[in-house]
Amino acid sequence: MADTPTPPPVGRLAPSPTGALHIGNIRTLMCAWLSARSKGGRVVLRIEDLDHPKVKRGSTEALLDDLRWLGFDWDEGPDVGGPSAPYVQSLRTDLYRDALSTLRASGLAYPCVCTRSEIERCQSAPHAGETLRYDGRCRDRFPSYGAAMAASGGRPPAWRFRIPDAASGHSQVVSFTDLFAGPFSQDVSAFSGDFAIARNSDGAGYALAVVVDDAAMGVTEVVRGDDLLPATPAQILIHQALRLPTPRYCHLPLVVGPDGRRLAKRHGDSRVSAFREAGVGPASIIGFLAASLGWLPSPSPASLRDLVPLFSLPSIPRAPLVFTPDLLLPHSSPGR
Ligand code: GLU
Repeated sequence: MADTPTPPPVGRLAPSPTGALHIGNIRTLMCAWLSARSKGGRVVLRIEDLDHPKVKRGSTEALLDDLRWLGFDWDEGPDVGGPSAPYVQSLRTDLYRDALSTLRASGLAYPCVCTRSEIERCQSAPHAGETLRYDGRCRDRFPSYGAAMAASGGRPPAWRFRIPDAASGHSQVVSFTDLFAGPFSQDVSAFSGDFAIARNSDGAGYALAVVVDDAAMGVTEVVRGDDLLPATPAQILIHQALRLPTPRYCHLPLVVGPDGRRLAKRHGDSRVSAFREAGVGPASIIGFLAASLGWLPSPSPASLRDLVPLFSLPSIPRAPLVFTPDLLLPHSSPGR
């Protein structure tokens, strides 16, 4: 008997407008786009702008422009609309508030008055791997949000996710098979403890927002950098608590500088806009990255469309890509 055909995936591009897109962002977004397109799937573009202090004015327009210039397209997004509009997280706070209410009603969220800086960090995707384990100090401390607010001198408390107790028959170990990284298990209780999901009743954090949005937008495939692999089990727990379908995950190696650290300003200017200004065309950037992903034998001009039939996860090297801007600016490095 023939297998039931898998429906084409719905993938997503979920950039944060916290600065200009650089080569590292593009390499991962390329994989997300190609993974969906190579299986005849749809692509949703969502702007993740909850990380208020880091969000930069004008970044959204600039990143949409960079993506279009590189040849990306999307079926739903802030500029093209779609059934799950709006596609900008700061305009979706009602949905996050509803999800938080559901978690509160089922006893899976509790108010917390502990360390402000840690709670503020819940707004951003934890790219820097800075997760701290919370000891659960506020777990059964306050009978109500009002009581917690009074205890913090009127400052609105944060909300934490109550990891179901092992005693209640729930496993605290979340296991899943990543499409690239393979089997992954984490005891969320030991890793992060009860993690923060909202800065206050209206301020959803990254983990809650990403889960609510991926489900509401029908996303079935999440392709992103492997620095977010350790953050995934917590997201799966939220999916389960809200009875939402969990997408398939694919976490890919990052682009790093010569010091082995995640690509950043200190490694030189690797923004797409810098290469645009220097006269490097989209086909050179895409072709260079395609070679680094094992889809072309050597860097040669290519469009995203050209790569659709060449996309393959097993060809992607396991090691991070070490990048310096001169790799795309050959004329700037005499002697090469
Ligand atoms: N918006 C996040 C970022 O650009 C990515 C989150 C995700 O892919 O889940 O850092």
